[in-house]
Amino acid sequence: MTMPDYSDGAAYVDGRYMPVGEASVPILDWGYRRSDVTYDVVGVWDGAFFRLDDHIARFRASMTALRLHPQETDAELREILMQVVRLSGLREAYVAMDCLRGRPKPGMKPHPANCRNRLTAYAIPWVWVVSPDVQARGAHLIVAKTPRIPEESIDPRVKNFHWGDLTRALFEAHDAGADNAVLLDTAGLVTEGPGFNVFAVRDGVVITPDRGGLEGITRRSVLELCADLGLPCEVRPLPLAELQDSDEVFLATTAGGIMPASRLDGRIMNNDRPGPISARLRARFWERRAEGWHATPVTYAEVAL
Ligand code: PLP
Repeated sequence: MTMPDYSDGAAYVDGRYMPVGEASVPILDWGYRRSDVTYDVVGVWDGAFFRLDDHIARFRASMTALRLHPQETDAELREILMQVVRLSGLREAYVAMDCLRGRPKPGMKPHPANCRNRLTAYAIPWVWVVSPDVQARGAHLIVAKTPRIPEESIDPRVKNFHWGDLTRALFEAHDAGADNAVLLDTAGLVTEGPGFNVFAVRDGVVITPDRGGLEGITRRSVLELCADLGLPCEVRPLPLAELQDSDEVFLATTAGGIMPASRLDGRIMNNDRPGPISARLRARFWERRAEGWHATPVTYAEVAL
């Protein structure tokens, strides 16, 4: 028997492992048809997961909020995530887990309560939300005209694929020649961006919105680093006007870490370079990662299927 080729990555779908290129979702699944799905993404860097159990806990909380109950337990999910990385052999990987609604069981009313929920996972080579060269010069951001979906309609703390607003904002940035976009809520408060949380630095204080966005695991890491470094930090509403005249702005996400910005709506900050506090946090983040901070090493040897 020839060994499947996992060089592009490995996936798990509903009980089976396969090369990522063979993994698919049925077009009748409500996860696809209705965006009735939640997901999470955990990173593997230098052969170790970062904050694996925090990601699993957030994923479970998202599933519970959407009344999704796949058959796999947290312990089984942990093993599945290990196995997709092991199969791929990747030492730097983007590892996603999704839970889809599924489709109504035959003969039952077409209601989300009557579906068998399905879990998928995959590991692919590491993906950067903001490329390392852009991180080094500082990202050029715009504030999108598109507001974030109201949190009363779609809870942004439940990681979701309702990306219509985020995708529109990405096109706004593209059309403006910028790298990425920050979205406001309808009251003009900063929320988040397409795949990241947002931070401002004003007079040496690091500020991040208290609501309107995902409670990012990297954001949590930033707050821990601020405490370690003795940097004052505020988690509170962040009005646009404050963001606009911040000394520094930076972004945070799994697939990128701490990502400084150097321009906001064309305004140049810090001589067009990452600001000193952003750069310090970014450097400390990767130093601590190299020291094994919140790391769970992948056990590569145990590949048996
Ligand atoms: N906000 C959104 C909308 C995201 O999709 C993400 C990550 O994908 C984040 C924030 C950052 O979260 P984390 O640091 O847990 O990756």
